[in-house]
Amino acid sequence: MSRNSIEWNVRSLMEEIPAHVKLVAAAKTRSEEEIKTVIDAGVRIVGHNYVSEALNTAQAFKGRARCHMIGHLQRNKVSKAVEIFDMVETLDSLRLAKELDKKAGNIGKVMPVLIEVNSAEETQKYGVMPSDVMEFAGKIEKFENLSLEGLMTMGPLTNSPEEARKYFSRTREVFEELKAMGAFSSECAYLSMGMSATYKVAIEEGANMVRVGTAIFGPRVTG
Ligand SMILES: *Cc1c(COP(=O)(O)O)cnc(C)c1O
Repeated sequence: MSRNSIEWNVRSLMEEIPAHVKLVAAAKTRSEEEIKTVIDAGVRIVGHNYVSEALNTAQAFKGRARCHMIGHLQRNKVSKAVEIFDMVETLDSLRLAKELDKKAGNIGKVMPVLIEVNSAEETQKYGVMPSDVMEFAGKIEKFENLSLEGLMTMGPLTNSPEEARKYFSRTREVFEELKAMGAFSSECAYLSMGMSATYKVAIEEGANMVRVGTAIFGPRVTG
């Protein structure tokens, strides 16, 4: 897509989504130039699926945009991840939590994390099952170098927003329960759900963070 159309997409999205909802530009497979365009247009958070891609651009945009991990984080990438990410949205196992806590501690950082909820309970997907999130959150709270700031979910693989709605709604319920229990580090906890096809429904169901790729950058050629 041309620079102009990317800029136009960002502007209209920012006008459309309510002010309390944070926009994460999902940047997988996009060029540094494309990422620069969205930051110039006002995007303040860039989401990466791969540590390697984030490494290529994190330095270039340091101080201009925050950098979120939104893909599955492998434990052997955690050292690098704690250096470059401002938030890991995809905390999905206790083993990963332990590694993140250790490596963040090594560099004197407290790592903000969201628990990834496998809201559609698909066995081939990453994430904590909704019924296990409560117990898992209790364990995460004990790590000194992790700061639990909310929940994230992908929802089912579908382009039908109405099909996704009930999974978003279920995640919202768990989110509210945890919030009421004081499980999150900050009052303004994050509920990250919704992508290009589903962000409207996700916001209706309580998302205050949406991750949008194709609706900003156009269709992905690869990846
Ligand atoms: C790619 C991706 C998105 C954005 O998807 P689009 O359909 O391109 O908007 C959001 N979240 C995650 C975790 C992704 O991998």
